[in-house]
Amino acid sequence: MSKIRSIQSIRGVHDILPHQSPAWQYLENCLRELMHEYGYAEIRMPIMESTELFKRSIGEVTDIVEKEMYTFTDRNESSLTLRPEGTAGCVRAGIQHGLLYNQQQRLWYMGPMFRRERPQKGRYRQFHQIGVETFGMKGPDIDAELIAMTARLWRRLGLKQIQLELNSIGSTASRQAYRAVLVDYFSQHESLLDEDSRRRLTTNPMRILDSKNPALTELLTHAPSIIDHLDEASEAHFERLKKLLDAMHIPYIINPRLVRGLDYYSKTVFEWTTRELGSQGTVCGGGRYDGLVEQLGSKQTPACGFGMGMERVLSLMEAQGITQNAPPPEYFLMMIGDNAQLTGMQLAEQLRDQISDLRLICNCGGGSFKAQIKRADKSAARYALIIGDDEVKMKTIAIKPLRDREAQQISLPQTELAMTILSQRNKATNNND
Ligand code: ATP
Ligand code: MG
Repeated sequence: MSKIRSIQSIRGVHDILPHQSPAWQYLENCLRELMHEYGYAEIRMPIMESTELFKRSIGEVTDIVEKEMYTFTDRNESSLTLRPEGTAGCVRAGIQHGLLYNQQQRLWYMGPMFRRERPQKGRYRQFHQIGVETFGMKGPDIDAELIAMTARLWRRLGLKQIQLELNSIGSTASRQAYRAVLVDYFSQHESLLDEDSRRRLTTNPMRILDSKNPALTELLTHAPSIIDHLDEASEAHFERLKKLLDAMHIPYIINPRLVRGLDYYSKTVFEWTTRELGSQGTVCGGGRYDGLVEQLGSKQTPACGFGMGMERVLSLMEAQGITQNAPPPEYFLMMIGDNAQLTGMQLAEQLRDQISDLRLICNCGGGSFKAQIKRADKSAARYALIIGDDEVKMKTIAIKPLRDREAQQISLPQTELAMTILSQRNKATNNND
């Protein structure tokens, strides 16, 4: 008989295993609370969209659209794509449901994104982002709010060694003027460019600044700076943003080479980076995209947002020793014999009615006393509740401490169980205080 080979997950995607989910849930809860506190509302978009949406918003000559999208033809021949990021879908939904025109919106979403990149630490083909998007606010105050919100998140999580890099890429017009200067510079040094950059020289020269090739560092360091080519309005916006950040005591460094990978940005761009995650050091990136709503077919609407890589935040937490464990169960109910099972299952449901948040595991799958106490111990519960034939007859139940060797097992009437659990809980919280 030939052995059947088991199927493995596909390259670059990961299972989040039971021991990992407490950290995820902790981060997700922190984010939900933070969003709520700042007055942001959740929006949930589909994971699939028309391919056209991403081509039109992200831009045809970006890494994402050129080579990273999971695109396939549906049965009716339409082209669909698994979302590589959330901004496009959020704007699409906003326009479609009339959320953007002539109003202010503060929105967020959380979920998986898909990019066909070369998998490595911190870079996956399915990864998770929280995205935050704001609409209808054109001043730098909202840019500052978004940055302050992320700074607060790092503080809440206890994360250190993350720095804010800031830049302005100006208006479309000033960017075009800068583009010409940049093309001039790179053309003079064309022999030093790598293949990718040479191609970008004609398609998207600003993206050369974004190159991660160390061989280009020297060339990029001396490249003309976009900050010297800003239009007046963008410069004023940038100055005001810096002033607001100073007032809120949020340190930043200006990085004139920060251009961000996507085409739809204008004015403010920012990234939170760390050196503790190797070359995948960008934890969060965002900026202003005043042109995107119009580009996707609606009225001109100012917009600003960011995307944060949740896996990267989690690895940074791990690197800095910030761990989360799910609280263990409080009780494990052992039921020895068929009659005990009838009484026990009924009692367990009554307890759950009476005590909120009770963490109680019922033994399932039968077993001897020895087998059940083994399970109880493995569950990490503080106490075992024990019902056998005698307890059924006498309408009692035993409580056996599993962690405290000094403590004694007690027996009590089933009717007093809820009260006893409540007082045990009170004692436990008082001891923890
Ligand atoms: P990078 O420069 O690392 O490729 P990016 O500019 O492509 O990032 P964005 O599109 O701005 O990234 O996405 C926002 C955030 O999502 C990033 O800062 C990063 O934390 C995270 N991210 C992006 N791509 C991946 C990926 N393939 N795997 C894990 N996280 C990712
Ligand atoms: Mg990328």
